[in-house]
Amino acid sequence: MADTMEEQTITCPDCHAGKMTIKYITYFTWLGNELVTVPEFPAWVCDLCGRRDYDNRAVSWLNTLLNSSTGKGKRRQYPRPPRAEQPPAASS
Ligand SMILES: [Zn+2]
Repeated sequence: MADTMEEQTITCPDCHAGKMTIKYITYFTWLGNELVTVPEFPAWVCDLCGRRDYDNRAVSWLNTLLNSSTGKGKRRQYPRPPRAEQPPAASS
């Protein structure tokens, strides 16, 4: 079984000629009046026109994270977006 999951490309819905591939970029979003940056955020980027579509699963992950962190005091440390399923840590 080959790992081909990250080699996916889709045709760009904007220019219909470019190929969109996953790239890891810095995601900016506003949380209230605070600018939140998330490094290495997965996004589909067109190699022709430069259109960016953030990965839906990663966006919903981020929204869940931001919503759950509001009201819990100030937390400025955000973990990286999930790249792959991680097994639960074994208890030592
Ligand atoms: Zn395009």
